[in-house]
Amino acid sequence: MSEVESNRSGDGAAPAARFDAVVVGAGFAGLYMLYRLRQLGLSARVYEAGSGVGGTWFWNRYPGARCDIPSMDYSYSFSPELQQEWQWTERYATQPEILRYLDHVADRFALRRDIQLRTRVTAAAFDEVADRWAIRTDDGASVSARFLIMATGCLSVAKTPDLKGIERFQGERHHTSRWPQEGVDFTGKRVGVIGTGSTGVQVIPGIAEQAARLVVFQRTPCFSVPARNAPLDPAYASSMKASYAEYRRKARETRAGIVMEVNPKSALEVSPEERERAYEARWAQGGTAFLATFSDVMRSREANETAAEFVRSRIRATVRDPAVAEALCPREYPLGTRRLCVDTRYYETFNRDNVTLVDVKASPIEEITPTGLRTRSGEHALDSLVFATGFDAMTGALTSIDLRGRGGASLKRKWAGGPRTYLGIAVAGFPNLFTVTGPGSPSVFSNAVVSIEQHVEWVADCIAYLRERGFERIEATPEAEDRWVAHVKEVADGTLYPLANSWYIGANIPGKPRVLMPYAGGVGAYRKRCEEIAAQHYEGFALSRAG
Ligand code: FAD
Ligand code: NAP
Repeated sequence: MSEVESNRSGDGAAPAARFDAVVVGAGFAGLYMLYRLRQLGLSARVYEAGSGVGGTWFWNRYPGARCDIPSMDYSYSFSPELQQEWQWTERYATQPEILRYLDHVADRFALRRDIQLRTRVTAAAFDEVADRWAIRTDDGASVSARFLIMATGCLSVAKTPDLKGIERFQGERHHTSRWPQEGVDFTGKRVGVIGTGSTGVQVIPGIAEQAARLVVFQRTPCFSVPARNAPLDPAYASSMKASYAEYRRKARETRAGIVMEVNPKSALEVSPEERERAYEARWAQGGTAFLATFSDVMRSREANETAAEFVRSRIRATVRDPAVAEALCPREYPLGTRRLCVDTRYYETFNRDNVTLVDVKASPIEEITPTGLRTRSGEHALDSLVFATGFDAMTGALTSIDLRGRGGASLKRKWAGGPRTYLGIAVAGFPNLFTVTGPGSPSVFSNAVVSIEQHVEWVADCIAYLRERGFERIEATPEAEDRWVAHVKEVADGTLYPLANSWYIGANIPGKPRVLMPYAGGVGAYRKRCEEIAAQHYEGFALSRAG
């Protein structure tokens, strides 16, 4: 519990509430972080901007939203009881089901009493004398904490493009990540969707079924593989549960935090017939395991092109109008270097009479008018506009808080040339600050729950270590940070990722530095490195006692 009531005015009139730790965000990461801090007997407060817990699954309520990692993998492993009790109903759970799960977790572990909803952290500054963070929130309060843990999410700052005339639009407009809780009824409406990434691919089929007309404004086509979603087979669920602990252990050692069969062969060493059969089999199976059809799909441009051409052939086989099919075929980047989408009847949707695809690369958007959207080739009358236009990913949530480290140094300024971290978990100059799935960690290149659990456990163990030995401060050294940043870049340069204009490299935000932000070295190897660093008494960190 806090030692005193928080200082609402923040004017120094009353002492601020003091916690051992403040956590920002109440999604998968913040909820589990709170649970672990409680286990250590620490006082903690979680601040969450939303009016409920769940993070991604609280905000992204658009029709069709669901996970693209199988539900039995995309869930916590920390509690054997929880994972045995919870019954997922589909191979890929829907947003409402995942939100129910996270609400259940908050209740089951009695987490809510330490979570303050509807409260945004706006600023935090490290007090070098007290070795504590002073944290301010948008309700005018300020509190202090020894440790500040950012569980702010990689994809939590929604991005709406700055289109001319947008404010004059007289119809409804919604960003998919700020979807109204009561839902949106598109019956009889003319709807425009901007964006064809993972979100667009999920929202487009659902809206098409309801709306009178749907116009899809596509700038960059995506590669999408079928989900083959289905009710979860009870026999499969039982067999998974019978060996869950072992399965989870294996998942933690994989590249992406999910057990999948990786074909050790090169796509280039097999005959065209064998290659086709292998892609067909993965296509029939559904999901992101398509990327593991051959060992070099994500390493060799030539091998990648065989996978890309296979997907194009599926698009051509599905979409009846050849011109529309060609417009849906991605050509500008290797498959998988922008997040591979996973869909249910996405390409089939373009065979519907009420759906039109507009290529806004060929004919750019000029403005939003009061009654629609004008591209260079003409105006489209619309009643509703849906922005499936993505996020200021990975750094956006962190740099939008005025974070000040030693000497008042600003995180935003420090990261002006791209994010710099040690392990994606700590930042030189910012003592006692931890970033869960921060830039420089596998984060979005993995099953996020596996990466979140690993970071939360590492942070909890680190705090326990400091307390047991009487340390009050931990800070990444600039040398360790430099080495890690160089390593992240070196690994990135050995992949195909830098070849795409993706949000992974900040390309979707004008002016954002082009740096591959997630770590491409794989979850298993990364975990091992983190464990070695901890075992070597937090190598690369400076630990100090009071004064
Ligand atoms: P989040 O769930 O984003 O939670 C962060 C929370 O912090 C938010 O609620 C936000 O409001 C809060 N916050 C941020 N800044 C502040 C502040 N200053 N003050 C107070 N509160 C703040 N990953 C997968 O691995 N598999 C999937 O299938 C998958 N599907 C996804 C589908 C969608 C639609 C999206 C957008 C992402 C998906 N992801 C998926 C990634 C997903 O973000 C992670 O899996 C996971 O949910 C992240 O949890 P988190 O707790 O780290 O962050
Ligand atoms: P995204 O991948 O960044 O896609 C945004 C889309 O909007 C792109 O097609 C982009 O086109 C388009 N766009 C942006 N600004 C535009 C403009 N001014 N004019 C025209 N088009 C514009 O965002 P997202 O689809 O929300 O996905 C983000 C990430 O969230 C995913 O990569 C994934 O990690 C996660 N996610 C997962 C799932 C899932 O299946 N479980 C679902 C949703 C999201 P350009 O590419 O040309 O900029």
